Amino acid sequence: MYDWLIVGAGFAGSTLAERIATVRGERVLVIDRRDHVGGNAYDEPDAAGVLMHRYGPHIFHTNSDAVFQHLSRFTKWRAYEHRVLAKLADGKLVPMPINRTTLNRMYDLSLVTDEDAEAFLNSRAEPVAEIRTSEDVVVSRVGRQLYETFFRGYTRKQWGLDPSELDKSVTSRVPTRANNDDRYFTDTHQFMPLDGYTAMFRRMLDHPNITVMTSTDYADIKDKVSFRRMVWSGPVDEFFGFRHGKLPYRSLKFEHRTLEQEWFQPCGTVNYPLEDVPYTRISEYKYLTGQVHPKTTVTYEYPSAEGDPYYPVPRAENQDLYRKYEALADATPDVWFVGRLATYRYYNMDQVVAQALATFKRIEAAVPPTSANDTPRSLAATGD
Ligand code: FAD
Ligand code: UDP
Repeated sequence: MYDWLIVGAGFAGSTLAERIATVRGERVLVIDRRDHVGGNAYDEPDAAGVLMHRYGPHIFHTNSDAVFQHLSRFTKWRAYEHRVLAKLADGKLVPMPINRTTLNRMYDLSLVTDEDAEAFLNSRAEPVAEIRTSEDVVVSRVGRQLYETFFRGYTRKQWGLDPSELDKSVTSRVPTRANNDDRYFTDTHQFMPLDGYTAMFRRMLDHPNITVMTSTDYADIKDKVSFRRMVWSGPVDEFFGFRHGKLPYRSLKFEHRTLEQEWFQPCGTVNYPLEDVPYTRISEYKYLTGQVHPKTTVTYEYPSAEGDPYYPVPRAENQDLYRKYEALADATPDVWFVGRLATYRYYNMDQVVAQALATFKRIEAAVPPTSANDTPRSLAATGD
């Protein structure tokens, strides 16, 4: 008998489990269909002992002091600023996001100041009347040639769609700079959890009021446990039995390689924007973790239509379909939908934590903590 069933042990589920158990003193069962906690941020040492991320490279960055302070209860940190190079057709490696160094290296220029680089970009930018798509965003800032070199092929591979078919929010994630800043992110807090993500999740979930069951699917236990309320962090369309049709999610296949050499590439991630290279990027974990090891482990990411749902696909028609599920979710009492899959939002880890903390406030305002006399009931009938 539990006060709460929490489906999914990623950032959304684990953040809420900890808050509910600690602040409200309620009993929580956390389940995950995978054989581990941490969701997509799960990390583990591979056979050689190199700490790696099973679901691709996760770099923590946030501008939110509240999120950073909250997670700092469960981990110490290692300062880390991520850097990315893009490999071009002529073999050159240039900084991504595009910055002044990128322009100088690509075109053998000697742009010295920010103003020089800005003037160069302005001379190539193509005005777009209304910026709607992921193509518009980039073409209007850097022009068609740089767009095709860095964004068109990569995006077509990553999403199976042309940038003109994707919402502007997708490529807007990557800025273009006139200065020489070659960091991928510019957030105020850029750190990796010192002992890894999985250790941080274990600490978060280590509470006498929390029971964790991995390798456990909601469908298998929904009729077997009783609980009063639920947090759902799986795909929202799955919860409602796909009754309005399937929401599109993009997947990836990861190829992890442990190499008999100390280092493989010059920085944490190298992007491959050429369309005929089947993978989008290669990441090398030791840059992220700071681990000292005679071998190194890298992950190749191959985008795929099939497989685990990793990315909601931001475009208007998908948002329309999501709105129908959101209406169902709003009309489902005692179930809170949280996280990247349950709210169909292309959120980073810190945004998911912020959303979970905001949800906790809503729960606090809406429901008094369970008293020992309340009668538990199963919510199984609300899902399909
Ligand atoms: P998830 O981590 O997906 O957790 C949901 C969990 O629910 C899963 O473990 C799943 O198994 C479980 N589940 C679903 N359905 C059921 C069910 N029916 N029964 C039981 N369990 C179920 N963010 C960053 O901030 N920085 C990065 O560098 C970064 N890199 C990324 C790289 C890749 C390749 C990907 C895919 C994502 C990246 N992200 C990054 C985003 C980050 O992974 C997410 O923001 C975050 O993990 C989402 O947390 P969540 O709890 O919403 O979802
Ligand atoms: N992108 C691109 N070329 C790049 C890097 C990114 O075209 O070299 C586009 C691509 O559409 C990608 C999006 O910008 O999906 C967002 O990039 P980000 O690195 O934020 O993606 P994520 O880390 O979430 O996979």
